[in-house]
Amino acid sequence: MADTTGAVLVFNAGSSSLKYQLVQPDDGTVLAEGIAERIGDAGSSITHEQNGESVTETLVLDDHLAAVQRAEQFFADNGTDLASAGLTAVGHRVVHGGRSFHEPTLVTPHVISEIKRISTLAPLHNPANLVGILAAQDLLPDVPSVAVFDTAFFHGLPDAAATYAIDREVAVEHAIRRYGFHGTSHEYVSGRVAEFLGRDPADLNQIVLHLGNGASASAIAGGHPIDTSMGMTPLEGLVMGTRSGDIDPGLVLHLNRIADLSVDEIDTLLNKRAGLKGLCGENDFRTITELMDSGDAAARRAFDVYIHRLRRYLGAYTFALGRLDAITFTAGVGENSARVRSEALAGLEGFGIRVDPGRNEVRDKAARRISADDSAVEVLVVPTNEELAIARQSAAVVASLSAR
Ligand code: AMP
Repeated sequence: MADTTGAVLVFNAGSSSLKYQLVQPDDGTVLAEGIAERIGDAGSSITHEQNGESVTETLVLDDHLAAVQRAEQFFADNGTDLASAGLTAVGHRVVHGGRSFHEPTLVTPHVISEIKRISTLAPLHNPANLVGILAAQDLLPDVPSVAVFDTAFFHGLPDAAATYAIDREVAVEHAIRRYGFHGTSHEYVSGRVAEFLGRDPADLNQIVLHLGNGASASAIAGGHPIDTSMGMTPLEGLVMGTRSGDIDPGLVLHLNRIADLSVDEIDTLLNKRAGLKGLCGENDFRTITELMDSGDAAARRAFDVYIHRLRRYLGAYTFALGRLDAITFTAGVGENSARVRSEALAGLEGFGIRVDPGRNEVRDKAARRISADDSAVEVLVVPTNEELAIARQSAAVVASLSAR
């Protein structure tokens, strides 16, 4: 059995799911991973992978604690007693750090109450993250827990990029600003870009496109984000799997006043029934491209709206950066859809952006260049790894505590 000493157990708790991974922060070796889905629902299930074997079980998981307990049992069945496995930390993804948290933070009772307080800013996400934290603490009281915030990387956004043009007093009273999300991924990927290119991050101007079921773009100058597409919530910006991204806020008023939809109904409409799903009934790009190729007009429109929005952000961020060195695609769509990548960057040779069609079609799990040799701007595909980033940041927090 692989050595677990020094490993970090990473938790990523969603509203009805819990992903976990046991990873060695130094070399990124994944010792085990799993996902519990539809927690609190009749059809909940959990899949656990360890020692080269994958087990899926359908069972009743009433809450996140039940999922954590079942995961612990899977570990034990595979010969890993988590409590005595020599873990360095349990690292938790926490979606919203609000104005309070800008860096990975050791979880204390004060931190727990602060994350609770901020939950009004992320009512779907933070409470689930908290349940994950409490469940892990219950289970592994002697292992330090570290919270890693999705908003942290964007904490230093320039004021002009972070500020909504609304009444200043209202904004301040209600903590309304652009926070940005997917920060762990944008930070990790932009760092990997610098490594891949053998360049000093301080000299690199780049755009990172995190295109998964949720999607966001960021403009990063010299290692620091200067703009990002998600805002106060993860609803702003690019077209996503089920989220609308940018809309005219007047639309919300209209839906409420004229279409008579309640605020909760509009919330569901924009978060769960919009984006690609709202446009064509599907949110997986594999299905959408198949439908498009068979002549489905709704799928074609969904694809076109998605690409149009992406190009709008690419243009805006290129100007914001002034000089652009690299564009990087990451996450499920960005890493896998050659079609999205080629259409997003088609016809931009005049701006020094030239994708090599052959390189773009290559399927590979490693970081790779897809631009042509004569492209002034490097175009890359870099797989994201939020779990590893969380594990490393958590281990660093624990190391800094013991160095004191
Ligand atoms: P993520 O949120 O990063 O896990 O990304 C999930 C999304 O990636 C799915 O909804 C699909 O749209 C997309 N995706 C995954 N694999 C492929 C693929 N082979 N081709 C196109 N899109 C893919």
